Amino acid sequence: MSHQHTGQRELFESRPQWVEDDDRRGTVATVVLPDGVDKPLDYLVPEQLAGDVEPGRRVRVPLGRANRLRLAYCVAVRHGELPQTPLKSVAGVEDEQPLLSRRMLELTAWMAERWMARWGEVLEAVLPAGVRLSRKVRVAPLLVATGALPARKPTPAQAKVLAAATQPQTADALAEATGASRAVVHRLVKLGLLAAAGEVERPRQAAAVERPRVNHDRPDELSPAQADALEAIRRPMREARHETVVLFGVTGSGKTEVYLQAVEETITYGRQAIVLVPEISLTPQTCDRFRARFGAVAVLHSHLTPAERHAQWREIAAGRVGVVVGARSAVFAPTPRLGLIVIDEEHESSFKQGTAPRYHARDVAEWIARAENVPLVLGSATPSLETFARCLAGDWRMCRLPGRVGGSQLPAVITVDLRDRSSRSKGAVSPRLAAGIRWALESGGQVMLLLNRRGFATHVQCQGCGHTVRCPQCDLALTLHQPGNRGICHGCGLVSRLPADCPECHAPGLVHRGTGTQRLEEQIRGTFPDAAVARMDTDTMRSRGSHERTLDAFRDRRIDILVGTQMIAKGLDFPAVMLVGVVNADAALHLADFRAAERTCQLVTQVAGRSGRGPLGGRVVVQTSTPDHPAIRAAAAHDYEAFVRNELPVREALLYPPYGSIVRFVVRSLDDRAAADWTGHIADRLRAAAAGDAAIRILGPAPAPIERLRDRFRWHVQVHGPDGPALRDLVRRATAGLKTPDTIAWIIDVDPVEML
Ligand code: ADP
Ligand code: ZN
Repeated sequence: MSHQHTGQRELFESRPQWVEDDDRRGTVATVVLPDGVDKPLDYLVPEQLAGDVEPGRRVRVPLGRANRLRLAYCVAVRHGELPQTPLKSVAGVEDEQPLLSRRMLELTAWMAERWMARWGEVLEAVLPAGVRLSRKVRVAPLLVATGALPARKPTPAQAKVLAAATQPQTADALAEATGASRAVVHRLVKLGLLAAAGEVERPRQAAAVERPRVNHDRPDELSPAQADALEAIRRPMREARHETVVLFGVTGSGKTEVYLQAVEETITYGRQAIVLVPEISLTPQTCDRFRARFGAVAVLHSHLTPAERHAQWREIAAGRVGVVVGARSAVFAPTPRLGLIVIDEEHESSFKQGTAPRYHARDVAEWIARAENVPLVLGSATPSLETFARCLAGDWRMCRLPGRVGGSQLPAVITVDLRDRSSRSKGAVSPRLAAGIRWALESGGQVMLLLNRRGFATHVQCQGCGHTVRCPQCDLALTLHQPGNRGICHGCGLVSRLPADCPECHAPGLVHRGTGTQRLEEQIRGTFPDAAVARMDTDTMRSRGSHERTLDAFRDRRIDILVGTQMIAKGLDFPAVMLVGVVNADAALHLADFRAAERTCQLVTQVAGRSGRGPLGGRVVVQTSTPDHPAIRAAAAHDYEAFVRNELPVREALLYPPYGSIVRFVVRSLDDRAAADWTGHIADRLRAAAAGDAAIRILGPAPAPIERLRDRFRWHVQVHGPDGPALRDLVRRATAGLKTPDTIAWIIDVDPVEML
């Protein structure tokens, strides 16, 4: 029988819990299974394995009556008296070295408590798949161009490989990307033009291999606000202590330059820096700037193969990489000499993982930075309310960068009230927005139009009976996509041919209602036939590199008007943009999500900041049916803080984050009744566990805002409380011993960012 632990925290304390019996001394390993069993289990370590079983390595252990061998993570080893109940023995050791440091084990245990996940699934989540492969897999070194001058002129195939090797990659990946043979790659290694990433000493000449970019050379002097912010980061760095520094500055205020110089300082101390960005493919400019400044940068993006990722991991773990840039999971990069963590666009919801373990990278980064005594830098033009509250409470230091570098003015914002008849037009573009586009084009500028709905029409409706065509397996209206008159469900992706007649009343002539980016693009082409128009959304950006190609074309002025979803709002810096149009600012405002107003204000503020970054100045036109909403008003006034001041008391009154914690249960079932009943059962248990505690609020059971997805009915219940740990204890008590019926699937999301 295996001995079960009651908690995870106690593993790191060396309290003896074994019985006093001199004959019964031995070595005990505590292991965690990646799935199946929730609790850590104890196993006896046989003498012949004693040297190999250590925390952070994986071991094989017998499980269950049949004693089937399972792979498990060893999380603790203790010598001493054995417990009275006999233990099974560890059968073998999988890894030659620990995959996880003691710190990572502590971190993962904390994450499991913080987000109510199983420790095993957290352990799996922090290790990339390639790292978890069996040890028999050999790892190819990452190659990168050394920047050395070739003696002889490279052959065309060689030149192609060299151009592609600006970023560390395996020989196989290089060969595949360029169509060259392996022999060409190996020849370049022989010639000293390619080398293992860790062996490249001098930063490469980025300009020689990369397309010309907007000039982001290191400026001679920082602005006073930048200098203050940099000093706020250097102070804890010098004193080897942790502090969280928030850079609150409009787009173009020079935040990235501050990150770059803070990273530079980190490297001079011989330390490593981790820089998190919301999504690599959406922030190519930020990544380029880090590469151009530092050369050997490990960019962890989602296109890496498991083997490539493993190779990057090893380079980082060996301390050969000074800077790691990546999305959410790069926070787990195994830096042996961490000196700094930066999170750019810290308000972005992509820093929260949508699947278990549903962790938030901002909180993980804070835990790590605190444990390592290094600064954490968070930057945004629109910091999350969580971050604002921490600054107001005095936990974190806020540095404001109020103006744009070089003093260019923030653009004037005009709101167009869509309720006003005179501002309406046949299409989605009001006369004032059209006039603004004309003004920008005639002044020689470019235009960006944001519409956060893809497809042609947002729904298809019968004129006779009002019936809306819905997805057969979800509770969502089908979006019309052209060409081909396809109905696509944005919930499950199902594609179906739209009927010609109403499926309800059989009247002919379904009408296309609501405008998506496809239709907007068509309208814009019709109204501005001489302008070059392109569209950027997930439909047009499916192939690899398409995003970069479109942005390059826009930068080179081969595109005059760029239509797109929120993709166009992120981290882009185009000086010739003179007009930004927000086609429907309310699109997300009325979602059943307490963050709807915050998101709307952030999106409109962010996209508005794309206008007028050059000497010609710029304007923003915001179309809205609720011009008086605090989120819209604040964004239009470039006064995000006004929105924060308005919104924080609302959150406080309702115990929403940042003033309270939420645990959300989402229950799914093919059977609506079963889902409702089970959610009710959970709600009853929560109410019983809360036992009339007035500080606890329980909302639900209720159908989730998206009531049905992929044939599954969805219900939810939320519990709010002022204190996170106490709330999670309550939830643990309420769900202890819960036996889930086979027909039901349910998840727990702690402090969710997604409420649909
Ligand atoms: P943010 O990250 O806040 O959007 P950036 O760091 O990208 O701002 O700065 C905006 C632009 O100004 C960039 O082109 C950058 O190279 C330039 N820049 C930043 N700091 C300075 C400075 N101190 N002097 C001159 N140019 C600067
Ligand atoms: Zn669907």
